[in-house]
Amino acid sequence: MNFDRLKEKLEILADAAKYDVSCSSSGGTRKNKKGALGDSSASGICHTYTEDGRCVSLLKILLTNHCIYDCAYCVSRSSNDIKRAAFTVEEVVDLTINFYRRNYIEGLFLSSGIFKNADTTMERLVRVAKKLRLEENFNGYIHLKSIPGASDELMEEAALYADRLSINLEIPTESGLKLLAPEKNRADMISPMRYIQNGIAQYKDEKKIFRKVPKFAPAGQSTQMIVGATNENDLQIIKVADHFYKNFNLKRVYYSGYVPVLEDKRLPSLTTEVPMLRENRLYQSDWLMRFYGFKAEEILDPNIPFLDLEIDPKLSWALRNLQQFPVNLQTADYQMILRIPGIGLKTAKKIVHARRFQVLNMEHLTKLGAAVNRAKYFIDFNSGNMYLRYLTDKNFRKLLIGGSASKFHNQFSQQLSLF
Ligand code: SF4
Repeated sequence: MNFDRLKEKLEILADAAKYDVSCSSSGGTRKNKKGALGDSSASGICHTYTEDGRCVSLLKILLTNHCIYDCAYCVSRSSNDIKRAAFTVEEVVDLTINFYRRNYIEGLFLSSGIFKNADTTMERLVRVAKKLRLEENFNGYIHLKSIPGASDELMEEAALYADRLSINLEIPTESGLKLLAPEKNRADMISPMRYIQNGIAQYKDEKKIFRKVPKFAPAGQSTQMIVGATNENDLQIIKVADHFYKNFNLKRVYYSGYVPVLEDKRLPSLTTEVPMLRENRLYQSDWLMRFYGFKAEEILDPNIPFLDLEIDPKLSWALRNLQQFPVNLQTADYQMILRIPGIGLKTAKKIVHARRFQVLNMEHLTKLGAAVNRAKYFIDFNSGNMYLRYLTDKNFRKLLIGGSASKFHNQFSQQLSLF
C-alpha cells in the first residue's frame, strides 16, 4: 500500500466532505457483542458534539470527489479545477477499522460524488458498509449518504448495514435547485427517502410480530439544506423542514450556512459572509417545531418571513404575542409554560410537577433551572410580580434585548471557520 498516496487521498476526501453537516448525533443504539468490534451509543455519534455535550468523532470522508454533476454550490462540481481522488472500498474499510482500533473515531460518515451514475456510486457505498459489518464484524456507527436516483434494491441493502442514511435536499426550493443544480431533480431525492421511510415503518410492524428482525436504518434518516446560496426566506426554509419532518419522519434536518468558495454569477459573491447567525436561528426554530409544539406558521408568517437575528425565535414569538402573557404558572397548561421565554423543556416539566405541592415564586423558578432574567417578565405568580409592568412598556423589546441577547451573538456576528 502506498501510504503517501493514501494520506493524500485522505486529505483531499476529508476536506471535500467538510461541507456536509448532516452527520451529527445519530440517536442509534448498537450494542457491542461477542467477537465484534465497537458499539454505537444512544446519545449519538457525531463529529463535533452530541446532544449531551460530548465531543465525539467519526471518520467523515467522501468515497470520491469525482462527480459527473456540476452543482454550482459544490467544490466537487465537475467544472471545478481541483485535485481529484477516489478511495477503493478496501481502503475505506481499512481506514475505518484502523482508526477505530486506535480510538481516533467512533464511526464512519461516508458520502460521495457521483461517478458514472447513481447506482454505481450507491453500490460502492453499500459495499463499504457490508464489508465492515459482515467481514470485519464492525459494530460501530455507520452513516451513508443516499445517492439521488439510486435503486430501491440498493437502498434496501444500505438500510440493512448502515445506522443512518441521509439525502441532502441541498437547496430548499425546487426553483433554487433548478437554478444551481439543473441536472438534479427533487423527485430523485424523494424516491430513496420514501423507500427508506416505508422500510422503517415495515420493520417496526414486523418487530411487533417477530422477535428477531434485521435492523433497518435504526438511526433513521436526515437531510441538509444550504442556507443563503439562493434567495429563499426563512419561512420557506422552515416550512420545507416541517414538511419533511411530518411526511418523511426525518430524524433531523440540518442547515448549512452557504460557504462561498466558488465564483459563479448565480451565487452570492465570494466576499459574502457565511450566515452563521441565521443558521443558528434556523436550528432554534427547528428545535421549537420538534420539541416545543410550535408550528412553522407561528414562528414566521408572510409578513415576517425572516428570523429576527437579534433575539431567539421563541422570544420573538412572545414579543409578537404579548396578549398571551403573563402566564400563571399554577394553572397554565404544559404547552403554554413551554412558550415562556427562558423556560426550557426540563424546567417546564419540573414546574408542572412542583406546582402540585407548592405555590411557585421566583426563587423556586431559579432553583428549577429557568433563565429568570428573561422569564420574569412573562409570568404571573399568584404572589404578584413587579416585572409585569414592563410588559406594556413600549420599550419592552429594547429592555429585553439589553438583558437577553444571545450569548453567542458576538461569536456568530463574525464569520466563523467551520472546521
Ligand atoms: S452531485 Fe453532489 S458531489 Fe456532485 S456536484 Fe452536486 S453536490 Fe457536488
